[in-house]
Amino acid sequence: MEDGKKKGGIYSRTDASKVNLTDEEWKEVLPKEVFNIAREKGTEWAFTGKYWNSKESGTYYCAACGNPLFVSDAKFESSCGWPSFFQPLTKTSVIYAPDNTHGMHRTEVLCGRCKSHLGHVFDDGPPPTGLRYCINSVILDFEKAQEANEQYQQDKANDKAYE
Ligand SMILES: [Zn+2]
Repeated sequence: MEDGKKKGGIYSRTDASKVNLTDEEWKEVLPKEVFNIAREKGTEWAFTGKYWNSKESGTYYCAACGNPLFVSDAKFESSCGWPSFFQPLTKTSVIYAPDNTHGMHRTEVLCGRCKSHLGHVFDDGPPPTGLRYCINSVILDFEKAQEANEQYQQDKANDKAYE
């Protein structure tokens, strides 16, 4: 069911064009728990997400729009209970906004393509950046390196077929 929703929506791992949907439209295309994080800036409980402890090699995509966000090479073991990265995939993968809610001064991290809320970035991370991108698992789609490579080979084969 989740896949069906994605296919009908704006989900794409190759289309970099910006996504601008209203909350009503997002509600139509996103599963409830994703909507809560992405659009209502919710936070999943620590140590409950599916990726906080994952060490698999691959790429993390925005679960709302498919934008590639992080690679496992930049993921590190953090005791905070959420998937933690020291840098995004590219400079434009994510955007930032000041967040002064809950009596704290934090920097919010949003998807660079669809502006979904991802999590926050803190300056207590490891080298080389010293940053800790603390991201909700719910808003991440993970693809193992092996699968991504197979998909790439398949796409290449398909491209050939069109030539
Ligand atoms: Zn996105």
